[in-house]
This record gives sequence, C-alpha cells and structure tokens, in this order.
Amino acid sequence: CGIVGVTGVGDALPYLLQGLQKLEYRGYDSAGVFLTDASGKNELIKEKGRVSKLAEKAKKAGFNGTAGIAHTRWATHGNVTVENAHPQKSANDRFFLVHNGVIENYKELKDTYLKDVHFISETDTEVAVQLVNHFAEEGMSTEDAFRKMISMLEGNSAYGFLLVDAKDPETLYVAKKKSPLLIGVSDHGYAVTSDAAAMIDLTKDFVELRDGDLAIVKPDSLTIFDANGDAVNREPFTLEIDP
Ligand code: GLU
Repeated sequence: CGIVGVTGVGDALPYLLQGLQKLEYRGYDSAGVFLTDASGKNELIKEKGRVSKLAEKAKKAGFNGTAGIAHTRWATHGNVTVENAHPQKSANDRFFLVHNGVIENYKELKDTYLKDVHFISETDTEVAVQLVNHFAEEGMSTEDAFRKMISMLEGNSAYGFLLVDAKDPETLYVAKKKSPLLIGVSDHGYAVTSDAAAMIDLTKDFVELRDGDLAIVKPDSLTIFDANGDAVNREPFTLEIDP
C-alpha cells in the first residue's frame, strides 16, 4: 500500500515514521520498518494496526539507523499478521523487501525455484525476496539477482519494490511497474516513496520513476536504468506544497 525509504539522511527512523504517518490516510492493516547502518547493524520491527504502535516499538528498540525501508500493508495475499507485514525477508536474513502490488505467478515461481526454502509468511512478496536470495546464492550480484527476479514476474503483476541487502546496508534497490514510486533528492541523502507528500520534511524535489525503471540509490549517488537497461538522466520536479 505505502512505501518509504531513506539513505544518507542521518538518523533514518524519524523520517520513516513520519513518512508512514503521512501515508496512513490511504488505509492499511499493518506496518513495518527495517533499519540498518554502515557497520551492518540492523533491526526489523513489524506490528499489526496503527503506525503509532509500530513507532512505540521502534523507539523502544533504540536504534535509529542511517538507512531504512518501511511499509504500510493492505493485505492481498495472506491474512493480517505480523509475519505477513512487510518488510519481508529472505533466508539467512540477508535481503529485506517492501512491496506494493500483486505478483500473479508467485505460486509457480515458488514451486519451480524455491521448493527447499522455508517460508515464514503467506505473502506473494516473500516469494520475490526469497527469489532474489536464490539467485544471489547462485553467484549473481544483488543488482543482477533483483533484475532477474523482476524479469520473471508475469501476467498482470504490479510492483513498487524497495530492497535492501544486509551485506551492503546503505544501498536501496528500487523498481516499479503499474504502482507509483518517486525518488526524493536532497543535499543530504535520498528518499524513496510511493507518495511525495510523505517525504516533504526531507525535500520537495522528486524524480518520478516510470514503468520498468530500476534505480540504485546510495547515500551520495542515484543511478536510474530504464526498461531497456540503459542508464538515464531524469530531472527532478519541485513539489508545490507547504510542509
Ligand atoms: N501483495 C502484498 C501483500 O499482500 C502487498 C500488498 C500491498 O500493496 O500492501 O502482502
């Protein structure tokens, strides 16, 4: 339903919680956040119900992170449970993924590639993150594994994806099709969001991603590839609203 992420902005948690709060009006049934820092320390926190409950739990954990991803879920595959809330994670706690949308052929992908994987949730999203891990274990780079997973989504699948590799903790991997995602650009780091209004405390300058785009966002750099895999330069627009 709603996605926010940040890297390079200093303390990540306050931006992510504020972002989730600004996405609340769209409706959701659960929420979660994954935080990391350059040393590789990380924390995954999920809750059913209100973002305020998640915020309490996250503040108690006492870790702000310097990068992170967060989500408000509107369940399509699987009940409303803490396990089914996003971020979804892969085996070995390596990859963490938030997802807006639906993966139509998730059962086929699960049966074909992930027979031996132990699943924690009932979501279509977990199949996507386990697939990334599967291809990474075969020796692919995270970028190639992410691209490969996306190339296998069929039918009317829709996605806004935001992925973190715990082994490269301040890099955000982003992709979208038939679900909105924007990159917020500031002098001190980047945001990724499904709704620009959620990130206006950080910046008013946003690049709107197009269907088939894949972006790599690091604390001090942004690279966008179009649907053909070519690196492209997209100028940000400035949002005309008061914070
Ligand atoms: N299909 C995913 C799920 O049910 C994502 C739902 C959403 O867009 O919030 O977990």
